[in-house]
Amino acid sequence: MASLAVLLRLLWAAPNSLVGVLAALPVLWRGGFARAIDGTIEVSWHGDRVPASSWTHRLPFVAITLGHVILGVSDGELARLRSHEQVHVRQYERWGPLFLPAYALASLVALGRGRHAYVDNVFEVEARRVAEGAARAAATEHDDARGADRT
Ligand SMILES: [Zn+2]
Repeated sequence: MASLAVLLRLLWAAPNSLVGVLAALPVLWRGGFARAIDGTIEVSWHGDRVPASSWTHRLPFVAITLGHVILGVSDGELARLRSHEQVHVRQYERWGPLFLPAYALASLVALGRGRHAYVDNVFEVEARRVAEGAARAAATEHDDARGADRT
């Protein structure tokens, strides 16, 4: 039944993923790259690094998730932010077509509390918390592995 659950999550997030595909088309048309990673399609404008002359420096983000599509300014930024953006993918799977309105509402709530619309948005807070927890766990595993190598 795992495949049915995956199918339902894909379908529930599909309206957002469609927006992501539409946003990706001009990137790909202009020479961007796309690849399937961890159940998503990652699309980037550049390879590992963003050239200093790139217009992407004017974007208000370095990566953005739309359903199961993640757009990033470069492969390097997508790799750096992958665990954070994967949390947003899980949020889209949970909220489906309600995610973007819920995200906007969460920004308004943060503003109403005198906080920052992006930094204090509950969806961003969750994404940072989960991604930082995953990074700490990976570092611990790495340290454990290094400790084992020393023996
Ligand atoms: Zn985020």
